[in-house]
Amino acid sequence: EQKDLGDSVAIVTGASSGIGAATAESLAAEGASVVLAARRADELEALANSIKSDGGDALAVPTDLTDDGDIEALVEATMDEYGRIDILVNNAGVMLLEPLATADRSNIRQMVEVNLLGLINLTHEALPVMQEQGEGHIVNLSSVSGREEGAMATSTVYTTTKYGVIGFTKALHDEVTNAGIRTTIVEPGYVETELQSHVPHDETRAFLTSGEIPGLSAEDVADNITHAVTRPQHVSVNEVLIQPTQQP
Ligand code: NDP
Repeated sequence: EQKDLGDSVAIVTGASSGIGAATAESLAAEGASVVLAARRADELEALANSIKSDGGDALAVPTDLTDDGDIEALVEATMDEYGRIDILVNNAGVMLLEPLATADRSNIRQMVEVNLLGLINLTHEALPVMQEQGEGHIVNLSSVSGREEGAMATSTVYTTTKYGVIGFTKALHDEVTNAGIRTTIVEPGYVETELQSHVPHDETRAFLTSGEIPGLSAEDVADNITHAVTRPQHVSVNEVLIQPTQQP
C-alpha cells in the first residue's frame, strides 16, 4: 500500500525550474506541503501560486545553497510554518562543463559548492529534525555522471560532485537507516531542462542541446521520486538509475 503524503512536509531544492519544479508539483499533487527553495524568488512564487490554485500547499523560500545562513533560514522557515520535515529532495545543481585546463575557477567552485557542499550542509541542518521525528526521507540527485559509464571529457568537476553525492548518500544511509530515515539516490541520464543551456564550453553545449539525444522530461524523473517516497515505510528504494530508452 502506498504511503499517504497528506500530512507530510517536503523541502525541494532547485524548485525554480526543471526536475525540482516538476517534483514539487508531483509531491504537492500527492498531498504534501512543499517548501520551494532556489535563488530565483519570482519563479518560486509563481510555482507556489500555481500549486495553491490547484488545491495544494506550498511555501516559497528564496535560498542560495552556497550561503550557510540561507540554509539555516530555509530549515527555520519550514519549521516555523509546518513544524516538521518528512522529505528532503536535494535536487539543486549546476553543470558548468568545460575542459579542466581552461576552466574558470569560479565555475569549479560553484559546482562543488552547490552540487556537493550545499547538499551536505542542508542535509546536516535538516537531519536532527528527522531524527527527532524518528522518520524521514532524503532524496539526493546524482546523475549517470556519478557512475563509471557516465564520466566524459569536459565533465571532470561535475562528475566529481555526482560521484560525491553517491558516496555521501551511501555512507549516510548506513548512519541513519536504523533511525527510520530512508535515503534514495537518483541517477538520471539526459533530461530536457535548462541545465544544459548554462554549459560554458560552446562545443559541449552545442552537442548537449542539439536535440539529437531524445531526453526524458523533468516529469519523468519527478514521477520516480514520488514513487520512491510513497513506498510503505518498510520499503527503501536506495538507488534509481533512469535514462531515456534510446540513450546508450
Ligand atoms: P535546472 O537547471 O532546470 O535546475 C537546477 C536548479 O538548481 C534550479 O532550480 C536552480 O535555481 C537551482 N540552483 C542552482 N544554483 C543554486 C544555488 N546556488 N542555490 C540554490 N539553488 C540553486 O536543471 P535540472 O532540473 O536538470 O537539474 C536538477 C538536478 O538534476 C541537478 O542536480 C542536476 O545535476 C541533476 N541532473 C540533471 C540531468 C539532466 O540531464 N538535466 C541529468 C542528471 C542529473 P536558481 O537558478 O533559481 O537558483
